[in-house]
Amino acid sequence: MSSPPALDTVRINADFDGGNIECRRIGGPNDIELAIRRDHQSDFFQWFYFRLSGARGREVTMRIVNAHESAYPNGWRDYRAVVSADRINWRRIETSYDGRALTITHTPAADAVYFAYFAPYSMERHADLIARCLASGRARLSVLGSTIDGQDLDRLIVTGATAGPRQCWVIGRQHPGETMAEWWMEGFLGRLLDPADPLARQLLSKATFHVVPNMNPDGSRRGHLRTNAVGTNLNRAWRDPSLDASPEVFLVRAQMEKTGVDFCLDVHGDEDLPYNFLISAAGIEGYGDRLDGLHRRFATALVRASPDFQTERGYPTPKPGQANLAMCTPWVAKRFDCLSMTLEQPFKDNADGPDPEFGWSPERCRLLGRAHLDALAAVIDDLRP
Ligand SMILES: [Zn+2]
Repeated sequence: MSSPPALDTVRINADFDGGNIECRRIGGPNDIELAIRRDHQSDFFQWFYFRLSGARGREVTMRIVNAHESAYPNGWRDYRAVVSADRINWRRIETSYDGRALTITHTPAADAVYFAYFAPYSMERHADLIARCLASGRARLSVLGSTIDGQDLDRLIVTGATAGPRQCWVIGRQHPGETMAEWWMEGFLGRLLDPADPLARQLLSKATFHVVPNMNPDGSRRGHLRTNAVGTNLNRAWRDPSLDASPEVFLVRAQMEKTGVDFCLDVHGDEDLPYNFLISAAGIEGYGDRLDGLHRRFATALVRASPDFQTERGYPTPKPGQANLAMCTPWVAKRFDCLSMTLEQPFKDNADGPDPEFGWSPERCRLLGRAHLDALAAVIDDLRP
């Protein structure tokens, strides 16, 4: 098959919302050398997102030469990158890791195609999500304040006809490269705001929801993996947040103090493990049978609600007193003596139910987000003794 004539030379660009790549060299379609940029004022990097143009119908080989120096080199094992021409469907493609470089091979069917670590979730899409939630008439927006780059930090407040007494906080994307967290939010919020959904109606009669779909707008727009505009890892800032270094956590924590917290879920993505799993607050002092029982019941209900969730694999449980109170989940559990958890979703795929074409995908994130309402319904009446 002959290639169509190239209109332009091969180009790589990442100068857009959430973009990240540095083009080191283009020797030809089969000789493209790339590197991932570090988060600003930080050593973390792993997120990439860029456009390739001028290579329609030609096989392209791109090597990310600093992959081995990234935050989680194990994340590249058995990993496959995603590509999209229409910016809607993100398919998995041939990717290999030799212990140093990540090599992506692809023959674009269009003049321009996008490659990313996971399906991107732009700040424009975030604005669409907020607008859609407000248009439902069932959510209010409360802007908590400004980020360092001057963006709004958005909290949605969702209530039923009368405000339910329990205070449920759900936050996501403290680590901005973990875009699956905001795809999850689309499913969670979509179901919570569906007036026809009886479970959502029941939950809203019992609880008020405070949802921060994106805790890290600056890192998201800058194309960071893990930190905000000044290199702060927000999920290590909960013990002592400041307006200078971690305003996102400072502002959310202040509101939590105002509302109180009966339930908290912090949504993330994990580079290495090909599973969905929860992390409890078991390491805090005073983590007793009540919190342990609530956590187990929530997890059991989630297993029933979604075959994409499991409890066999995850991180080792810390011993009592070993919790890192600079992280959201243990800090909230300790401060408010409440059920507080972290959800991890894979960058790779769910090994228990793999999908060769899409891997772990936006659609599956949404469905898992919806399933969390079933799990919450299993514990909502017992969040307080
Ligand atoms: Zn994370």
